[in-house]
Amino acid sequence: MLSFYNTLTKSVEPFEPLNASCVKIYSCGPTVYDVAHMGNMRAFVFTDVLQRVVREVGGYPVRWVMNITDIDDKTIRDSSQGSEKWRSEMGEQSSDAKANLRTFTLFFESEFRRDLQVLGISMEHFYQMPRATEYIDDMQTLIRDIVDAGYGYASEGSVYFNVAAYAKDYSYGRLFAIDAENFREGVRIDADEYDRESVSDFVLWKGRKDSEPYWDFELDGENIPGRPGWHIECSAMSKHILGLPIDIHTGGVDLRFPHHEDELAQCCAGYHVDEQARFWMHNEFLEIEGKKMSKSLGNFYTLRDLEKMGHNPLDIRFALLAGHYRAVLNFTFDSLQAASTARTRVQNIIWDLLDAAGLDDATGLTGAMPPDVALAFGNDLNVPQALARMHEYLGANANVKSDPDAAREVLGALKAINNVLAVWTFTKRPAVNIPDAIRTLADQRWAARSAKDWADADRLRTELTNSGWTMKDGKDGYTLEPLS
Ligand code: AMP
Ligand code: ZN
Repeated sequence: MLSFYNTLTKSVEPFEPLNASCVKIYSCGPTVYDVAHMGNMRAFVFTDVLQRVVREVGGYPVRWVMNITDIDDKTIRDSSQGSEKWRSEMGEQSSDAKANLRTFTLFFESEFRRDLQVLGISMEHFYQMPRATEYIDDMQTLIRDIVDAGYGYASEGSVYFNVAAYAKDYSYGRLFAIDAENFREGVRIDADEYDRESVSDFVLWKGRKDSEPYWDFELDGENIPGRPGWHIECSAMSKHILGLPIDIHTGGVDLRFPHHEDELAQCCAGYHVDEQARFWMHNEFLEIEGKKMSKSLGNFYTLRDLEKMGHNPLDIRFALLAGHYRAVLNFTFDSLQAASTARTRVQNIIWDLLDAAGLDDATGLTGAMPPDVALAFGNDLNVPQALARMHEYLGANANVKSDPDAAREVLGALKAINNVLAVWTFTKRPAVNIPDAIRTLADQRWAARSAKDWADADRLRTELTNSGWTMKDGKDGYTLEPLS
């Protein structure tokens, strides 16, 4: 029933769990040095839809782990003394760099958890959300094992992965084709992020610098104070929490190299497994004007930015998931508006069905997902196709409003679809709250109309429309409805 595109084999493959008692999914989570932007949120909403499809369509229990990267170059930089990113809500900075790092990252972690919930990603669906700093022992053990196996070495106070030695025994470049010509043997790279032109020995453990937070690390009888490289974090946490191999590893396409390639190499080298994950799945970018939305380009919106502009988080979630996850998604306010219109149309149908079924609340209602909708979800998460099938199903059932039982059945089907999409509510239509300014405009228009001042009446109607309201004239008065 399920098939997914696997970056490892570059093909869509049938998905069978390694163990039917639970599907193990590991998602690379946020680096908590700032609030996440909508590009990051695309990656998290994609994984949320994936794990919901595995549960709802595949019928498997899921253990979903998303890590919190609370130690890396950026979290250290931005939590250090005098950093402009330090917020008053975090209290005073202390002289202890490790304590500052924790205070700083916990603050952005809690912002992140809030964002997830606002976007319909339920905390109950996570098996664990581990912090990297709480698994330093596991990382150190893995580094020792990599060194013992002959694939790592200490140099100038840090420890590196020996790519040339590894590539003799294993394949390096399984997730992302690497040109052997680009490999710079014997060159060491300390940065966590680098491009395919700089393939070289990457850092497993970074030696302590100045006043940075550090942990002691004993390797071959010597203490190497420092902190882990980014890639080793996910290798160690995925093994400790889920056990290897896992079923599915996820992240954005930018994580294929070096992060995921290096995670995989470390697991094979140190844990002596053939695979870290059976499936590797990567979402495409959210772009803005043809460029990846990113902090470094400064072309980003956060969830709070959009909320402040008055956008409904359910519309934002819908905009992020309605395209195929392997297609680039262009972020525009027009597309957000289009997503809102499409989502609201179905929400209105749900409210009508609730009225027809005589229900105030169908949250607990269960029903069967129409088979061809389930098929589309199971076919490499083809959400656009699933939505098309859902509309066909609704079209074929457009007349059920006079039959409460039939209305209930359609509601049940929509509820099952919403267990995957999580963009609609199943409680009664809320009473419309009309802002005072809109009420004033409508009163003015009613007065103009009564005075047969048609030009003014038309102008005021346009103003109302531009504010998102439609005014319907009756014999003795008017009604106002929000535009959907
Ligand atoms: P980071 O916090 O930078 O480690 O990123 C967290 C997740 O967001 C990773 O899976 C990235 O691949 C993903 N990501 C970052 N920028 C974008 C973007 N513009 N579109 C889609 N995914 C992104
Ligand atoms: Zn990772």
